[in-house]
Amino acid sequence: MNQKIKKILICPQCGSSDLYYESGLLTGYKYHCKRCNYIGSFVIEIDLPLEQEKK
Ligand SMILES: [Zn+2]
Repeated sequence: MNQKIKKILICPQCGSSDLYYESGLLTGYKYHCKRCNYIGSFVIEIDLPLEQEKK
């Protein structure tokens, strides 16, 4: 089976997937949540199948 997987990032604070990548200077990479303004390097990663086969 050839299943495409898309990784989505979830905000640990509000559960939104509206995260965008923000590069920091000394602290490295960070993510910024559009909804609750959470900023941090810790986010929840979920593997989401892109195409689901019809049953
Ligand atoms: Zn959030």
